[in-house]
Amino acid sequence: MPELPEVETIRRQLEPRLAGRTFTEVRVADPLLTAPLAPEAFEATMTGRTVTSLGRRGTDLLVWLDGGDALCLHLRMTGRLHWRPGPPPDGGERFLRALLTLDDGATVTFGDQRRFGRAWMIPAGTDHAAYWHGRVGPEPLDDDFTAARLGRLLHGRRVGIKAALLNQALLAGVGNMYADEALFRARIHPQTPAGELTAAEVKRLHAAVRDRLRFAIRSGGASIDSYRDGLGDRGQMQEFLQVHLHRGEPCPRCRTTIVKGVVAQRGTYWCPSCQVAP
Ligand SMILES: [Zn+2]
Repeated sequence: MPELPEVETIRRQLEPRLAGRTFTEVRVADPLLTAPLAPEAFEATMTGRTVTSLGRRGTDLLVWLDGGDALCLHLRMTGRLHWRPGPPPDGGERFLRALLTLDDGATVTFGDQRRFGRAWMIPAGTDHAAYWHGRVGPEPLDDDFTAARLGRLLHGRRVGIKAALLNQALLAGVGNMYADEALFRARIHPQTPAGELTAAEVKRLHAAVRDRLRFAIRSGGASIDSYRDGLGDRGQMQEFLQVHLHRGEPCPRCRTTIVKGVVAQRGTYWCPSCQVAP
């Protein structure tokens, strides 16, 4: 499931290829993608529009269009965006949900085996701060996201720290994999009540979240499931996961056997020596 680094990788690859280009043909193959907007209405809105830039909010990708509208894309479980310099080859996209053609002949396909991904328009004039408020929390890689700010977000919360990290309304873009990796790096047990972290732990967690997200972006994201980057290639981050998916293997720090359990309804990996239960 794509998390912040995977979506950011796609954004960085697609922006130079899409910015300044115009959509000459837009075809929705699966009406569920744009529902409740009818495919024909979506196609009509998109055709002839020029891309100005690409943005991201949490795990939502934003394609800014001339006139100020934003096309918002969410990949959910298995969504893939794939830019190609020409039309996709026959059979090149098995689970095609949309095909967008650009004025230089390049195409972008939205493929999605499980069909949970979504596309919708955010109209020009929308107050984006208000639009995202309450649904997507602060961006962990923003300059103003300090350890003190993380501490304020967690203050008084009785849920476990892993559940808090997974809450997108609290903090943007961290999912199951990077929550495990950041908690291991910060040496914090995933069930520690979020509001009971010490100042030193909050500081370590803040650094660990940012470090792991940045490292994952540099590694092109993690292809542990269906994720491919915006050019159809696998990421490298799966090679650098330290605890996630490593049950039964020695902890890279202390050699204790890594365990797996269910925390916040998700398969969770940790080192029982480095990350002491509360
Ligand atoms: Zn350990």
